[in-house]
Amino acid sequence: MVDFSLTDEQMNLIEEIRAMGPELEKKSLEIDAAGDDHFDYSLVTQLAEQNLLTPIVPVRFGGRGFDYFTTALFIEEIGAICTGLAAVLCFNSHVGSIINMVGNEEQKETYLTLLTEKTPRLAAVALTESGAGSDVGAMTTTATFKDGKYLINGTKDYMINGAIADLTVCFAVLDPIRGRSTMVTFIVPGQAEGLEVGTLRNKMGLRYALTHEMIFRDVQVDPKNIIGDVGNGYMVVTQAIDRDKVMVGAAGVGLARSAYNKALAFAKERRQFGRSILENQAIAFEFAQMLAAIEAARMLVWKACWLIDHNADFTLASSFAKIAGTSVAQSVVSKAVDIVGGRAFLKGHPLEKLYRDAKFLSTAEGTNHIQKAIIASLL
Ligand SMILES: Cc1cc2nc3c(=O)[nH]c(=O)nc-3n(C[C@H](O)[C@H](O)[C@H](O)COP(=O)(O)OP(=O)(O)OC[C@H]3O[C@@H](n4cnc5c(N)ncnc54)[C@H](O)[C@@H]3O)c2cc1C
Repeated sequence: MVDFSLTDEQMNLIEEIRAMGPELEKKSLEIDAAGDDHFDYSLVTQLAEQNLLTPIVPVRFGGRGFDYFTTALFIEEIGAICTGLAAVLCFNSHVGSIINMVGNEEQKETYLTLLTEKTPRLAAVALTESGAGSDVGAMTTTATFKDGKYLINGTKDYMINGAIADLTVCFAVLDPIRGRSTMVTFIVPGQAEGLEVGTLRNKMGLRYALTHEMIFRDVQVDPKNIIGDVGNGYMVVTQAIDRDKVMVGAAGVGLARSAYNKALAFAKERRQFGRSILENQAIAFEFAQMLAAIEAARMLVWKACWLIDHNADFTLASSFAKIAGTSVAQSVVSKAVDIVGGRAFLKGHPLEKLYRDAKFLSTAEGTNHIQKAIIASLL
């Protein structure tokens, strides 16, 4: 049975985040204007105090025990406030769900518990390399077994939280020639010796999310920090991305909703030719179309989460949700900028930031081209 009603707990969660919204959004605009070369802990501290940094962690490891559906509701709310913050939370969630899905009890006890501490704990994913973007199997970061430990060597790029992470999930291959069939998933503690901060990635948008190239130079990892089996890293990463890309869709729905609301408030107030611009049918119809598109994308996100939470096949649904949520973000924010006009083009206007932030979403967690390739492979 499908049920679209939200529980009291879910409604309370939404209210809780909406109450924090104006303050967090104001701060995120200031952070965006200041550039993306430092990390402001105030936003994540506020969430950590309410155990909302990695809420997907099960209750028995100290988390809030959110299912994917509730996580998507949460990420939509955060996406409506700050896309960079949503991205930080998505990577925490990504790491939390990998450990929860594939990790053993000891790893869960140690690392999931860490992610729920009141001191904000941040997690990073070391997957992408300069020669391995969509084609992660082409990675050249190696793990070599020596004297009872693995030594990781290589350079990972675009790592959100990379320079400030308390733990990193790193993917490396035992043999670059045999590639993905030798891929291994490692948990690397944040301050591991040999883990160096490389070039800062100055970005068009998403400035809240501190992003770096990270260099692994003989980083020693104990075999007990391997998640899953040696050689099944590719399966781990694809299964995790299949789920977590839905959260990128949810963030997109939130961004679209925020852009819609800002433009609507403006259109009601702005008077030209003796009436509000919303009184022009051309403008009102734009809002009608945007609202329908946002709702359609949200339903695809909800459906994908429902399938994940009910252990049903979600492959197509998660690709639909990712494409729909991220596309609606870009199309709605573009229309919102058109409707607000010149003001929205000025630096410091919230829509100007949302417009730049929206561009990230189609690239994240498997580009939208890759989503279409997944769908096409199932035709
Ligand atoms: C701000 C930001 C933060 C990021 N954070 C992280 C992070 O924390 N950790 C991490 O590991 N990575 C991270 N990434 C990397 C991100 O996951 C990659 O950018 C993404 O996977 C795409 O890889 P690429 O940029 O190398 O593009 P490429 O894979 O080189 O793709 C280039 C273009 O070709 C298209 N393309 C590629 N292959 C195909 C195909 N088979 N069919 C059709 N089209 C195709 C793509 O869709 C794209 O349009 C981040 C990226 C950004 C921009």
